[in-house]
Amino acid sequence: MTLDYNSLLMALAVSATCLAVTLLGSWFARRTETFLLSCTFGLVLIVGGIVAYGLYVDDPKMGFAVVAFVLFHAGFAAVWGAGYQFRTGKLPRIAIIFCALAAMLVSIPPLLLGLDGLAFIADNLAIATLLFATAHQYWRARAEAPAPLTGITGLYALTAISFVLCAAVLIADGKMVLGVAPSNWAEDLSLAICIASMTGIGALSLALHQWRLAARHRLDAMTDPLTGLVNRRALFDRYGRGTMGPATAVLVFDLDHFKSINDTFGHAGGDRVLKVFAGELAANCRAGDTAARLGGEEFALVLKEVTPGRAEMVAERIRKAFAAREIYLDDETLKCTVSVGIAPGRSTPMDFDVMLSAADKALYAAKRAGRNRIELASRLHSVPAGPVRIGS
Ligand code: GH3
Ligand code: MG
Ligand code: MG
Repeated sequence: MTLDYNSLLMALAVSATCLAVTLLGSWFARRTETFLLSCTFGLVLIVGGIVAYGLYVDDPKMGFAVVAFVLFHAGFAAVWGAGYQFRTGKLPRIAIIFCALAAMLVSIPPLLLGLDGLAFIADNLAIATLLFATAHQYWRARAEAPAPLTGITGLYALTAISFVLCAAVLIADGKMVLGVAPSNWAEDLSLAICIASMTGIGALSLALHQWRLAARHRLDAMTDPLTGLVNRRALFDRYGRGTMGPATAVLVFDLDHFKSINDTFGHAGGDRVLKVFAGELAANCRAGDTAARLGGEEFALVLKEVTPGRAEMVAERIRKAFAAREIYLDDETLKCTVSVGIAPGRSTPMDFDVMLSAADKALYAAKRAGRNRIELASRLHSVPAGPVRIGS
């Protein structure tokens, strides 16, 4: 049975257009995902290439083939760029132009010299390379959403293989001059695979989009919008049901006389102070530590793998740095201090909420003792600390 090549081409153009519309619709739903827009742009070029190639199939004028090659190579380079942008957040404009020009440079000169057989081999191999490179981008990003990204990788790689097959059949035929569009089983198979892949990539892109939206909502639900730190819920999700190892310390911070800052400088002024303090906390976190806003002007720091005395040293560093900080509000400057309660590393494991409430009690002892100081929780069997200066 011979397949009607032009009907298949038409079907491919339709499925590429559907994919472009799907991606554009997804981009409208979430405009920060600009890789969808880049991919749509690439697909529009590819659809243009399919139309030009269809004209070449009917009437093999060199001009149609040149236009098809230019549009295909620009389009597939843009699709690769969209994959890179998906993974890194950056659109590699220069690299896209470079890839497109390189693909045109290997395939168009043989066409102009009348060696259309050679030109189609180069064209197929150039497209296969761009598709493999696209598959590689999604493969490298697969940790974010393993199922849809592995599927997208597989479909791009399968399409790339179909173009390699087209080139292989032309190489095996060994004709440097064809005079017509190549027509063989590999071309038919490649077209069928392209149609199926476009449909599959469209469906998986939607799944991926939902995946990202859900992840974004999860992140929003765990993040304090003012300071960008994790919120109380996230802190309890992370540690709430667990036992803290002996080398973990929990620190609770409460800004001093914060109400009077609000009263004097307004709520926006208070918010600015909260952000400055959050920045101070985050700057003192190592990998594995967690800085959280518990609510209002109360914060917590969970320090992992503390050596004896480190929790006190970190708390003291934060207290001092914050007390010394001059915070500019319009044309005024203000200063603020913080009190800290510490449940330090100890000799036995302990539940998170027990440590948090011990740190809380220590915090209120620090408040009672005059504020702007740190206080250690008592009766936690703490590991003996090295020398540390406490208080201002
Ligand atoms: P202390 O030294 O005893 O901790 O006194 P304080 O004034 O800091 O404590 P208090 O609990 O009396 O006041 C806390 C204030 O924090 C009251 C509340 O209006 C303010 N606050 C809570 N959340 C926010 C916020 O998101 N932004 C601002 N600007 N203020 C907040
Ligand atoms: Mg408070
Ligand atoms: Mg306070």
